[in-house]
Amino acid sequence: MKRIFSGVQPTGNLHLGNYLGAIRNFVALQHDYECIYCVVDLHAITVWQEPAALRAHTREVTAAYLAAGIDPKHSIIFNQSHVSAHAELAWIFNCVVRMGWLSRMTQFKEKAGKHRENASAGLFVYPSLMAADILAYKATHVPVGEDQKQHLELTRDTAQKFNNDYGVDCFPITEPLILGAATRVMSLRDGSKKMSKSDPSDMSRINMTDEADAIAQKIRRATTDPELLPGPAALDEAGRLPEETRKARPEAWNLLGIYAALSDKSWSEVLQEFEGAQFSAFKKALTELAVDKLGPIGAEMKRLQADPEHVDGILRDGAERAAAIAEPILREVQDVVGFLRP
Ligand code: ATP
Ligand code: MG
Repeated sequence: MKRIFSGVQPTGNLHLGNYLGAIRNFVALQHDYECIYCVVDLHAITVWQEPAALRAHTREVTAAYLAAGIDPKHSIIFNQSHVSAHAELAWIFNCVVRMGWLSRMTQFKEKAGKHRENASAGLFVYPSLMAADILAYKATHVPVGEDQKQHLELTRDTAQKFNNDYGVDCFPITEPLILGAATRVMSLRDGSKKMSKSDPSDMSRINMTDEADAIAQKIRRATTDPELLPGPAALDEAGRLPEETRKARPEAWNLLGIYAALSDKSWSEVLQEFEGAQFSAFKKALTELAVDKLGPIGAEMKRLQADPEHVDGILRDGAERAAAIAEPILREVQDVVGFLRP
C-alpha cells in the first residue's frame, strides 16, 4: 500500500514556494495514494511563536490545505499536537539518531545562525520528530520541497537503523517525492536564498493571501539582471536546465521556473514563448498568471479563516482518523523496544 505523509509548519506567511513545492502536489497526489496531511505545530515551536499567532497560523495552514483543494473527506488533515504518537515516537527516535547525523543538517545550521548554543534543543532534534511524523504512519512517500531532502535522508537512515538495531522489519524506507518545475522557489530579492516564511522581508515572497496589487508590486520589484530572457538553447538535449546555467542567472531562472510551474508548461515551452523578451514584458505576464492562480485560493483561505469552528471541526475529525492509524504502530514499536504494556 502506498501512503503519503507530509506537513507544513504554522509559522505564518504561507508563500508561493509552499504552494508550488508542497501543497499543490499534496492535492494532485490525493487520487493515487492514501494521504495524511499535517499542520506541524510541534515543529513550529522549535523557534519562538506567540501563542495567539500560533493558533491563528494553525488555522491558516488548514485553510490553505482546504482552499488549494485537499478534500478532508478523502485525505486526513490534522494538527500534529493532537496525536501524541508523534512526540512519543520522536523520543524513541532521539535515542536512535546520532548526534553526528543531526550536526550535519543544513537547516539547523541556517536557523540556529551564529549563536548555536542559544538555539533550542528542539531545533536540533527537529529531524527526529520529522522521522516520527512520517514513520508513525509507516508512510511510503513524502512530497516535499527540495530543502527537505536532507531531512528525508535522515528519516530513511533512522528507519534503517531502528530495523537493524532491533532485528525487525518494522519501518519502510520512505521515498521523497520532489515534484514539479519549482521544487526550490528562491527569494524575490536574493536568488541565492530560498523563499521562506521566516524571511523578515515581505518583499522576498509572494504570500498565498496577497492581493493582486501586492503580487504586482512584488514581481515588479523582484531582482533581475540587465540581459534579455534566454531561449530554448539554454537547455540540455533532454530539455533540462543545467545547474551551471541556472547558477549564472539565479533570479531570472527563478522567475521563469515560477512561470513554468504556475502555467504547467515545460521549460522549453516557456523559453520559446519569452526568448529575447525584456523582463518588463515577462513580469507583466507572470503577474497576470500568479494573480489568476493564487487569487481564488487566497480569497477562499480568507473565507475559511473567518469560520474557525468549521476549520477546527476538520482538524478534530482528522486527528481521530490519524490517531487510529498511528496508535497501533506506536504500540508495535513500544513492544519491539521492550516497554511493558500498561
Ligand atoms: P520556515 O521558514 O518557517 O521553515 P518554510 O517556508 O521553510 O518556513 P515549511 O513549513 O518549513 O516552510 O515547509 C513546508 C513545505 O514547503 C516543505 O515541504 C518545504 O520543503 C516546502 N517549501 C518551503 N519553502 C519552499 C520553497 N522556497 N520552494 C519550494 N518548496 C518549499
Ligand atoms: Mg522550512
